[in-house]
Amino acid sequence: MDFRWTQEEAAFRARISDFLAESLPADWERFAQHGPASPALTKYAEEFCGRLAEQDLLTPHWPVELGGLGLDPWHQTILAEEMWIAGEPRGGQYMNINWIGPTLIRYGTEAQKSRYLPPIAEGRALWCQGFSEPGSGSDLASLRTRAVLEGDTYRVSGQKIWTSYAGLADTCFLLCRTSEDRKRGISILLVPMDSAGITVRQIPSLIGQGDIHEVFFDDVAVPVSARLGDEGQAWEIIGFSLTNERLGIPRYALARAALDRAVAVLQAQGEWAGEAVKIEAGHAAALCEAARVASYAIVSARARGETVGAQASSARYATVMAERRVCEFITEYLPEALADAHSYLKMHHQRGIVAGIAAGAAEIQLNIIASDVLHLPREPR
Ligand SMILES: Cc1cc2nc3c(=O)[nH]c(=O)nc-3n(C[C@H](O)[C@H](O)[C@H](O)COP(=O)(O)OP(=O)(O)OC[C@H]3O[C@@H](n4cnc5c(N)ncnc54)[C@H](O)[C@@H]3O)c2cc1C
Repeated sequence: MDFRWTQEEAAFRARISDFLAESLPADWERFAQHGPASPALTKYAEEFCGRLAEQDLLTPHWPVELGGLGLDPWHQTILAEEMWIAGEPRGGQYMNINWIGPTLIRYGTEAQKSRYLPPIAEGRALWCQGFSEPGSGSDLASLRTRAVLEGDTYRVSGQKIWTSYAGLADTCFLLCRTSEDRKRGISILLVPMDSAGITVRQIPSLIGQGDIHEVFFDDVAVPVSARLGDEGQAWEIIGFSLTNERLGIPRYALARAALDRAVAVLQAQGEWAGEAVKIEAGHAAALCEAARVASYAIVSARARGETVGAQASSARYATVMAERRVCEFITEYLPEALADAHSYLKMHHQRGIVAGIAAGAAEIQLNIIASDVLHLPREPR
């Protein structure tokens, strides 16, 4: 197998990194500590994404007729790696671009596509993902937010929690229960966040201002035309969405860049001495590389047009292990980074500490690998 980038792919990467070098403000690394969902970064992300769109670099993996360049998953990966290494200046818009847009392209009606895709492709939209509820995180199929159809309107009541970006988002990709069947009783509604009956409360967090929220739905009226797919089709649709989400977040790239920075700081400070620090850095680097290669195996399958299912959990688990190890390394050998001495490392830490919970707990990835990849028996024999 040949893992080298083609000349064209290398040029694409250079174009993105040049764009980042020219566009990001001089104090970007300190500024990024406001947190990915903060009002400051969200405002900046809108400007930044608008400029990316002008350069055809916001949605290059989308079809040409929908505002993209029709580029393959390798280009999507290169773009995402460079953005994550820079600290993800697209803010919450990475979700729109990576998985909400592609999910709408695949499952949306023509009316939904023409309403929602242009603002995403122009960098003007911010979505939130209303999946988790109190008591329904890992066990998502137990969710209870209910949508009852009355005529041509759903009446939605219930509560979501840990909803990133909800404070500033314009639309919610909402999972709700439309019948009692555990999985086939769940449907997706695309709900404007300014609908009457929605209340958003921020939850303080170490990641930065405005990151996570509780969202309450009190008899919210949602037209049936806002349902994505058929009633009860949510489970199939989010299977597609989550695979895209997990591939669109190459956290291993940021972890590796942070590790390299930490090593450079230790060397400059004369603290790169003795075996222990080198062995620990070596372990962390090996985990970053393992995560990168595991992710590339999935990208490669997608580039060949194969459907990727549970295998994406292997790449995601490898990435969680890499991020955690880099966070542990920096906490052990450069603790002053967490007290603001090194902005880039602090920014990495803010994003890294949620590894293994956000986007699905690590243990659940192991369960999926055990059952759907390794086909292990559920009960000990
Ligand atoms: C920063 C951040 C941002 C988030 N953003 C969003 C968002 O935008 N939208 C959204 O809907 N959700 C969001 N979440 C929620 C996230 O998806 C959930 O936290 C996650 O799915 C875990 O669910 P839970 O918190 O209910 O924990 P639980 O499911 O209660 O899990 C707690 C612990 O128990 C373990 N556990 C649970 N069940 C099993 C099992 N069967 N086998 C082995 N171990 C198990 C888990 O691995 C975990 O370690 C976010 C979370 C964080 C931290």
